[in-house]
Amino acid sequence: MSPEWRTVPPMASVLVVEDDQFVRSALIRHLTDASHTVRSVGTALEALREVAHFRFDLVILDLGLPDLDGAEALKMLRGITDVPVIIATARDDEAEIVRLLNDGADDYLTKPFSVEHLSARMAAVLRRSRGSGSGNGEATPRPVLQVGGLTVDPLRRQAQLDGARLDLTRREFDLLAFLAGRPGVVVPRKELLAEVWQQSYGDDQTIDVHLSWLRRKLGETAANPRYLHTLRGVGVKLEPPL
Ligand code: CA
Repeated sequence: MSPEWRTVPPMASVLVVEDDQFVRSALIRHLTDASHTVRSVGTALEALREVAHFRFDLVILDLGLPDLDGAEALKMLRGITDVPVIIATARDDEAEIVRLLNDGADDYLTKPFSVEHLSARMAAVLRRSRGSGSGNGEATPRPVLQVGGLTVDPLRRQAQLDGARLDLTRREFDLLAFLAGRPGVVVPRKELLAEVWQQSYGDDQTIDVHLSWLRRKLGETAANPRYLHTLRGVGVKLEPPL
């Protein structure tokens, strides 16, 4: 029913790296229900062996593994494969998350996370990785994007929140549409500047100002975010309110 995931091919081959038996079973059940094929291991060394022998579309990597530190495991994975990696961490440590994103993680989830969150991030990460091989899919008309109560129609350049039309400037619309196309994904500021402003450099204030205008129109504030979340020093993400 969720139109935002419609553009994602239904099946992905996923490697779950998780030593907690309970979390692992829940993940496998959810992923299998969503018709993904799943292999799972409980240690970093097994994970390295898996990616060396099989091709995966996505790896979900727990940071607290018994044999190797998660950051270490990520580095070793990156040494042999560029498969998209979503970090699953119980630690909500901003500095570490920034480091891991810089070290090649594609996204992260803070435990405990909901099935909806996992699905949203998987879809976004898969769309990005699959799109990158075919010119980012820019040639095909993009469907209407739906994130929670937010609807963004890139072709008509119209946006609605809970059924009410949003009156946005061109830049605000571009910013919203770009983020809505990647729900749940932290978009680095540099990428926003490049994609929305078509600038390879610029000051953060440009983004901050537009974000605050957009926030006001969405009826939220930085202190009380609903859809728009700013991760200081990292970037911005848009996701449905919990
Ligand atoms: Ca663990």
